[in-house]
Amino acid sequence: MVRVSCALCGQQAESEDVPLTWMTSVEDGRKLVYCDRCARENVRSIEGKLDPVYW
Ligand SMILES: [Zn+2]
Repeated sequence: MVRVSCALCGQQAESEDVPLTWMTSVEDGRKLVYCDRCARENVRSIEGKLDPVYW
């Protein structure tokens, strides 16, 4: 069983399915998932395709 984990903080989901509160993003052909907290913090850079200068 492969659990999804947050691309930023590494937090693992509690199941194989991506939780509804999490966000998925395709970057460089790879599917990345972000937990609810990271998604909220990075929603601007993800949706705006801005450089993640503050990471
Ligand atoms: Zn996270």
